[in-house]
Amino acid sequence: MKLPAFTYHRPDSLQEALAVLAEHEEAKVVAGGQSLLPMMALRLARPEHLVDISRLPELSSIRECDGGIAIGAAVTHATAERSPLVTTGSPMLAAALPLIGHQAIRNRGTVCGSLAHADAAAELPAVALALDATLVATSPRGERTLTPAEFFEGYLSTALEPDELLTEVRLPAWPASATTAVHELSRRHGDFALVGIAAMVTTAEDGTVASAALSFFGAASVPCRVAEAEASLVGRQPNEETIAEAAAIVSARLAPPDDIHASRAYRQHAAGVLTRRALAEATTNGKMAAA
Ligand SMILES: Cc1cc2nc3c(=O)[nH]c(=O)nc-3n(C[C@H](O)[C@H](O)[C@H](O)COP(=O)(O)OP(=O)(O)OC[C@H]3O[C@@H](n4cnc5c(N)ncnc54)[C@H](O)[C@@H]3O)c2cc1C
Repeated sequence: MKLPAFTYHRPDSLQEALAVLAEHEEAKVVAGGQSLLPMMALRLARPEHLVDISRLPELSSIRECDGGIAIGAAVTHATAERSPLVTTGSPMLAAALPLIGHQAIRNRGTVCGSLAHADAAAELPAVALALDATLVATSPRGERTLTPAEFFEGYLSTALEPDELLTEVRLPAWPASATTAVHELSRRHGDFALVGIAAMVTTAEDGTVASAALSFFGAASVPCRVAEAEASLVGRQPNEETIAEAAAIVSARLAPPDDIHASRAYRQHAAGVLTRRALAEATTNGKMAAA
């Protein structure tokens, strides 16, 4: 289907992009276009102005930032996937990126676009939540930073104002003892996940769990963590028993959607299974039974 008519803007600088956004109330940012253009084709979005930020030099870098990394709004999934800074500086992001759609989608889709789009089944909002990322929103009024809990307000809904751009996402320094695994269940390779988990575990010198982050996608209208399951692991050795306990808490506490793709009960069960697999991989390189 053809796109509805719109005026296309390709600003040469961030300042110009912000000015166009502020000038036109009905304007929308387009980065990779991998979510917005299909929505326009389906008439689920009808912006009168599109502001293309994909070639803005100010937004095109991945850089070190306070021991962690900062990823600009024009950085594609594919660029991040190939970046040594991401591989070493944020192994959870590196594990999540290849799960997004197909290579052709990752060649154009952007990391910040995934966050700004805020699809509840998308991998990167859950990664941002697990890592306590900082989201940087910029408008002609200046810059403000938001936590993931502040940023993700609901299904496809964020705290960004119409004239604000998500200019970068900052991921904090990766803890020395941290290990990670990202697992998801989807019908076919490349489909959005029915449910998924981004897990990170840090360990103390005696091998007990010092901290755990269990962040889920496809399990609510926003990415969500299960604090009770995380707490159940802390101070204990990660083994079959403690991992099964955490997985059971996850299945009991999550209240995922019931829709044409999967029932709530199926997603609850799958979330528990994925928790077991992810924790087994993160804590024992998958050597433990992970059926
Ligand atoms: C077949 C298919 C399969 C897919 N599978 C997956 C998947 O498994 N997992 C997944 O996560 N995604 C998937 N996607 C979506 C894809 O990853 C998109 O690239 C991503 O969701 C959005 O990134 P984008 O740069 O293309 O954003 P765009 O499509 O350009 O924009 C999406 C929305 O975010 C806004 N936006 C974008 N960037 C900014 C910004 N910097 N500041 C403010 N607003 C902004 C736009 O205005 C728009 O509302 C799939 C897409 C397709 C077509």
